Amino acid sequence: MRKKIVAGNWKMHKNAEQTEDLLNDLIAKIPTDTAATVIVAPTFINLASAVEHLQFTNIEVAAQNVHQAESGAFTGEISADMLKSVGVDIVILGHSERRAIFNETDALIANKVGTALEHDMTVIFCFGEELKDRQSKNHFNIVENQLRDGLFQIEAKDWEKVILAYEPVWAIGTGETASPEQAQEMHEFIRETVRKNYGNDIAENVSILYGGSVKPENAKEIFSKPDVDGGLIGGAALKADDFVAIVNAI
Ligand code: PEP
Repeated sequence: MRKKIVAGNWKMHKNAEQTEDLLNDLIAKIPTDTAATVIVAPTFINLASAVEHLQFTNIEVAAQNVHQAESGAFTGEISADMLKSVGVDIVILGHSERRAIFNETDALIANKVGTALEHDMTVIFCFGEELKDRQSKNHFNIVENQLRDGLFQIEAKDWEKVILAYEPVWAIGTGETASPEQAQEMHEFIRETVRKNYGNDIAENVSILYGGSVKPENAKEIFSKPDVDGGLIGGAALKADDFVAIVNAI
């Protein structure tokens, strides 16, 4: 069943104390009967405490990355088994910052997706075009290629563990949001692409989130579009009132 989801990507923000404060605020303010599945992704070092803190709540915890190998000499990296061992079952992969700053290719992301799925983790798979791609009207091709090269190696049975997050790079952290119409047009294309490759059931059941400068002021209109099933939120996830307002917009 297609779920409504609001996920907060905290990136490299919030130390241990600030993490606890924000989680306490979210626990107090997110309605227990919210229609949304709510996910937060603090930094690696605060994941274990976040899982413990959120144990009896309706808020789930995701990691922002995972290494593709099981274990080994990979200084500074974190494995899927390590994440699972502290109760983290969800991971964000393919984020544009990881693609651009840390040179993650579609092939590497595909590898990470495989590892996460082997560990029975849910993958929030991020993808989206750059401004130059949209200006040259190449955005549909770019998105289709990212899906094909980074994700479409998975088996049909794996789709119940996949959430898609369309994030146009030109809208991330820039204050510039895709219009609700632009978001709907691309989400419809993405669902169609999934349908062509995996069939109707999978296409209808996968949740497709929009990400890119979602704020309390624009969330409701974006979420009202039929193929937008929620949002992946960056900056606005760092303030409890803004994030809660976005959750409530669902
Ligand atoms: C993101 O980084 O995934 C994101 C959507 O950021 P922002 O909401 O700040 O644009």
